[in-house]
Amino acid sequence: NEKILQVSNLKKYFQVGKGKNLQAVNDVTFHINKGETFGLVGESGCGKSTIGRTVMGLYEKTAGDVIYNGENVHKLDVKQKFNFYRNMQMIFQDPYASLNPRSTVKEVISEPMEVHGIYKNKQELQTRVHQLLEEVGLHRDHANRYPHEFSGGQRQRIGIARALALNPEFIIADEPISALDVSVQAQVVNLLKELQVEKGLTYLFIAHDLSMVKQISDRIGVMYLGNMVELAGSEQLYENPLHPYTQALLSAIPIPDPDMEDNRERIILEGDLPSPIDPPSGCVFRTRCPAAMEVCSVKTPVWMEVEQDHYVACHLYDTE
Ligand code: SF4
Ligand code: MG
Repeated sequence: NEKILQVSNLKKYFQVGKGKNLQAVNDVTFHINKGETFGLVGESGCGKSTIGRTVMGLYEKTAGDVIYNGENVHKLDVKQKFNFYRNMQMIFQDPYASLNPRSTVKEVISEPMEVHGIYKNKQELQTRVHQLLEEVGLHRDHANRYPHEFSGGQRQRIGIARALALNPEFIIADEPISALDVSVQAQVVNLLKELQVEKGLTYLFIAHDLSMVKQISDRIGVMYLGNMVELAGSEQLYENPLHPYTQALLSAIPIPDPDMEDNRERIILEGDLPSPIDPPSGCVFRTRCPAAMEVCSVKTPVWMEVEQDHYVACHLYDTE
């Protein structure tokens, strides 16, 4: 497997007052293989989007490294960064917010190509916009209309067409389906999958809902309060979740087949999500963990590989 992205011990803190930091991302390590989908899941505010933005170099890092195709993202100069954005693009949760309402669909989609000056004439640009619209399942006649004339799912398709305009190899999709109806969610996920196969794309797919993430992801990282608590292949994670937080998240997903008996026990987490400004000592999950032990409040669990390609940070799996 060829690695396209390596994130090592990434920290991103935001200063929120005198001597106070919001620990949005704390010591997170993972990699993404070329051509795969890596799912990043967790409740809102757990640091998923911050990871996406820091990986893309939109945020400076506090510590750690982001290496993309052998290059340190945070050491690129202005020109290198400009070229870097041809390879890495982002799709957002609310496509309408990221689409200028006064621009036509054609303008929205062609903007990145204009900025990068990668077409020879208007005719070539027009042809490319039509091609992109058709690739995302829209019609070329849609080019002269405005984003607000489209449904949520169609707007997300426009956002995807725009992200594809520069022929990127890596796409960060930040909750691309969270605002859509369930039926439309599946269509957008299917489109993303098809495009991945056709174009050999690599995805970082960010979501708070574990059920859709399973369908699209090869491997999944679970985040809680700025920390990655577990990482495994999709199947492995669903069949053998090790971290108590992952177990709770999975227990909340309904079984897809309504005729199947669901005798799983639902794990309800007690208490509120602590503040990332003042996270608990030791294990960040300990204030809500049904399995918490004494050691959990004094020692931070280390990130370890407990079986092949299955990582967890939890004292239940300490070997000594
Ligand atoms: Fe629970 Fe302790 Fe494991 Fe944290 S380290 S998840 S508190 S058992
Ligand atoms: Mg977010």
